[in-house]
Amino acid sequence: MTSSTIKVTDEVVSCSDNGQHPLVYIKLSNGRGVCQYCGQVFERVEEKTKAA
Ligand SMILES: [Zn+2]
Repeated sequence: MTSSTIKVTDEVVSCSDNGQHPLVYIKLSNGRGVCQYCGQVFERVEEKTKAA
């Protein structure tokens, strides 16, 4: 069981815990989301770091 945060650049991520649970899609509203099955935490990061 992993407890590390996975950083992604997409707004929606999929998780199946390497096939250990049904594939689910998690929307990272507020830049953060948790898989309801395995508890994996996903954090959205901005790939482009352009200052306005
Ligand atoms: Zn999961």
